[in-house]
Amino acid sequence: MLKKTNYQGKNSEIIQQQNRLLVLRLIREKKVVSRVGLSELTGLKQATITNIINELMEREYVEETGLIEGANGRRVKGIALNSEKVRVLVSRITSDYYAVGIYDLQGTCIKVAKKFWEQGEGFLRKLEFIRDDLREYMSLYGENKQVIGTGIAIEGSVTSMDPEFKEWQDRDMETYLSQYFSEELGMAVFVENMSNMSAFFEWNRQISNGVELQTLVCLSIGYAVDCTVVFDGRFLKGRNGKAGHFGHVSIDMNGPLCECGNRGCIRNYISVGALKKRYAELLKSDAPEKAEQDWNIRDIVQAYYDQEKTAVMLYEEVAEKLGVIFANLINQFHPEELIFGDEIPNNDTFLELVKSYTKKRLPKHRYERTNLMVFREKRKTENDVGMRGMCLFVINEKLKDMKLN
Ligand SMILES: [Zn+2]
Repeated sequence: MLKKTNYQGKNSEIIQQQNRLLVLRLIREKKVVSRVGLSELTGLKQATITNIINELMEREYVEETGLIEGANGRRVKGIALNSEKVRVLVSRITSDYYAVGIYDLQGTCIKVAKKFWEQGEGFLRKLEFIRDDLREYMSLYGENKQVIGTGIAIEGSVTSMDPEFKEWQDRDMETYLSQYFSEELGMAVFVENMSNMSAFFEWNRQISNGVELQTLVCLSIGYAVDCTVVFDGRFLKGRNGKAGHFGHVSIDMNGPLCECGNRGCIRNYISVGALKKRYAELLKSDAPEKAEQDWNIRDIVQAYYDQEKTAVMLYEEVAEKLGVIFANLINQFHPEELIFGDEIPNNDTFLELVKSYTKKRLPKHRYERTNLMVFREKRKTENDVGMRGMCLFVINEKLKDMKLN
């Protein structure tokens, strides 16, 4: 039996910030809820709830709504998120493009745009582009709002954005970016791995739906391949937060040599770069006239949805590889849920294919205990689960910062 940790409030100084996060999350979920209602849901004393609500109102995170029906028919004041007031800036950086967006307290995207890098642009110049766009969003959509912070979601592959740029190599990438952007933007900046943020989004969604989760594994398949393990709402971070370089885990000891020195690394089979290369290779025999084209990954995914022969062949191979990878992850972590996504097909056909390959490699009971899922969001930048997760992450971090009276 799982302990029901996700809704359980605790009256202790040291976890006041957790209580605050819990209260804000419940308000987000319930849309409108009374103080008494919050007290009942969390098991926290009414006085504690009143204090937390006062803090949240002072920060303009929440506001009082009109009267709502309370217990025993009494009319009480409702509390709701002040979605009109608070904004969070988010940027996603990959080796091929960057996206900049602005979000509200619900994690809903107000506006987002994605731009591909020009060839040969240096690393610092790239950061300036992102900074300028973030500033523009702040002035266009942040006027009369409270922009509480910026989240930068990066992937393992970001380090390959500019091999010439040595400065960050001596330092920690996350520290470098957070210092750069917080100085340039004059606000709190949080830098996190994209896969962690997708996992964070999923964790929040499932908990909000009342699903009892203890272990969640999330595989992000994009320009990099990163894996996140969430246990009881926390990421497995490893030393210095460096866990999750999953793309360099080998699935074939005699496979092709990787830049890291290993052979048969996962990223050389299923990352965007690898898939584009493999697609062009397959096209050479199937449809040579198309092989020279520089294919966008989303066009390749679309070709799969359209059941185009070469794309079907490509993703059959990918599904087989994922079967090996997922069987490994399930054996290792026994998660209640294993979810994958990003630049990969997410329809039923592909999911079923991946499931069939995974099933072959596991004892039946073990396979059945993990819910194997794919992020269903339509592949549009405004739906980007990593960016939305990043927004929720920034809100949480800001809440932890809050000074108690
Ligand atoms: Zn490698």
